[in-house]
Amino acid sequence: MKTVLHWFRRDLRITDNTALDAAARTGAAVVPVYVASEWKGAHRWTGAHRQEFLCGSLAALDGNLRSIGSRLIVRRGDAVEELARLARETGATAISFNRDPDPFGRAVEERLAGLGLELHACKDHAVHERDEVLTGEGNPFRVFTPYSRAWLKLAKPAVRGRIKSLTTPQGVAGDPVPTLADWGLAPHRRIMEPGERAARERLKAFLAGPIRRYGLDRDLPAGQTTSRLSQDLRFGLLSIREVYARCEEVARDLPAAERKSAQTFINELIWREFYFQILWHWPEVLEQDFSPKFRGMRWVGDERNLERWKTGTTGFPIVDAAIRQLNETGFMHNRARMIVAMFLTKDLQLHWRHGEQYFMQQLTDGEIASNNGGWQWSAGTGADAAPYFRIQNPWTQTQRYDPEGRYIKEWLPELRDVPADRFAKPPADGRTLAPGYPLPMVDHAVARDRTLAMFKTVAAGD
Ligand SMILES: Cc1cc2nc3c(=O)[nH]c(=O)nc-3n(C[C@H](O)[C@H](O)[C@H](O)COP(=O)(O)OP(=O)(O)OC[C@H]3O[C@@H](n4cnc5c(N)ncnc54)[C@H](O)[C@@H]3O)c2cc1C
Repeated sequence: MKTVLHWFRRDLRITDNTALDAAARTGAAVVPVYVASEWKGAHRWTGAHRQEFLCGSLAALDGNLRSIGSRLIVRRGDAVEELARLARETGATAISFNRDPDPFGRAVEERLAGLGLELHACKDHAVHERDEVLTGEGNPFRVFTPYSRAWLKLAKPAVRGRIKSLTTPQGVAGDPVPTLADWGLAPHRRIMEPGERAARERLKAFLAGPIRRYGLDRDLPAGQTTSRLSQDLRFGLLSIREVYARCEEVARDLPAAERKSAQTFINELIWREFYFQILWHWPEVLEQDFSPKFRGMRWVGDERNLERWKTGTTGFPIVDAAIRQLNETGFMHNRARMIVAMFLTKDLQLHWRHGEQYFMQQLTDGEIASNNGGWQWSAGTGADAAPYFRIQNPWTQTQRYDPEGRYIKEWLPELRDVPADRFAKPPADGRTLAPGYPLPMVDHAVARDRTLAMFKTVAAGD
């Protein structure tokens, strides 16, 4: 019997998993393997929240594999070396895996070619990837709306079910499922429940109701107004094909206004793929501005201000609430992400890269493509970005999206007794909102002028 390694990466599920399903269908023995990396302590692109979610999701995957007659083999070290070693130990002649959307994952895939094993690489993380969505002239899209129109017109891949059984050889050596301690990290507090089952429940709950109001509620940061599926899509606990197909199915039977809500949601799923294709065609966005005209601009802010932004002590309640939500839960609402990103880049004039890195270290859903896209969008340097001169005012944003201060009071308990109208303007009397809460660290109007001047040094004629 032929033996195949299935290399799990960001596809930690057994339902509608393209490469795993294909391997199982060949009738081969399948060795499901996850190779944990060996870094310790601080990491540029990840942190405790995401690693904790990963550990829980791996444990759940092991349980799911056991329920179909298999188990997860965990190895530690360099992925290519470990896969080569495991292939030798098990007599495997092939490796199946789902392709990674980012350049780091891709670089590892390229090294597999040297192993002399059959490689089965599948598309799985996106409905459409790489060169599948192009303009009539065969070029990649730089702007979202025409991209999304072209995306919607393409035929969609089929959804497969849950794998029923897997034959895995006995006696293959593996390590225990990793824990946070393996990376030198301390457990955190309030992340979402990891694992495929929990993710499926979140999807089910969203489709059963909230999707109908998504178009109306999604910009309000208080409470749960969005699907909260981002970490599940990041780790592949859900298949994006299935999420899309289920939304379409639900949308079909809804009255017009609610159907529009579901379509707004689908549009967000397309943003995710828009940013994947930006990263695929322009991997340099990780190092520099997407828009060439801003490359080399000197960000004039004082880097010592970064710490106050990271600790949620800027004196702007909406910004501080958002950062505290992030630090405590590994999640931040999308509207809040835009507000804090604009604040860092336009009120503090600090390079978006500082925020990009901090988000990657804190977010459970940290996704290199979407995070870079979101940061460059907010900074005004990205693909189809907000123009640099459209600078959101954090006070009016508060008035519009958190008029009763529900979000602010949830994350800043020290402001619980302050009337909400005081959150939507700087304190007129120069007194703080509550003992110990700081005064606003900048004057927004002054900061705005400074930012416009900074951008104008490179955007002359814009
Ligand atoms: C500065 C900044 C950084 C961001 N960093 C990330 C990140 O690291 N990882 C990440 O998944 N999203 C990121 N986003 C996009 C968005 O904020 C999150 O996807 C969303 O808040 C996740 O919550 P949800 O699952 O409830 O989203 P919903 O509103 O329910 O959306 C459903 C799904 O669509 C996708 N999506 C929604 N909005 C966007 C968007 N603007 N761009 C790309 N995909 C989107 C996500 O996969 C999300 O789970 C970022 C946005 C900004 C402005």
